[in-house]
Amino acid sequence: MSCCGKKMITGTNAISKISKIKNIAEGFVKLAASRAGMNFEYAKTRLAICESCENVTWLKDREFAAWLNENKIEVFKKLESLEKLSDLPKKPHRALTRRYCMKCKCNILAKVHSKEERCPEEKWEKNLLKCIGC
Ligand code: SF4
Repeated sequence: MSCCGKKMITGTNAISKISKIKNIAEGFVKLAASRAGMNFEYAKTRLAICESCENVTWLKDREFAAWLNENKIEVFKKLESLEKLSDLPKKPHRALTRRYCMKCKCNILAKVHSKEERCPEEKWEKNLLKCIGC
């Protein structure tokens, strides 16, 4: 389908992309609420799992922007499944860095606050099952 000669995104693909954008926005809003004192227990549990995960990377804004720039067309096409793109570079914690998941490319602090988000490696779910079984 096209509009004004440009291709439009339609159907389930569009719904998946809108849903992902909604999740990202929700994550950042709840992160702000958390910083303002609201308590999101599920976010704490998820963050504890991410903190011990080998897929965490710490990137400066310009490093994340460089990855986005290299992958910009693919990022838009696969917004709802960014884990299918090449991993973010692995970097240690340094000054002026933010924590990202190398697999799903999300800002981890925002991701853990978004209820609908899932760990691409299913580590959140596996750890919760371990807790239920212990
Ligand atoms: S979302 Fe999953 S894969 Fe990514 S850092 Fe957290 S635990 Fe690791």
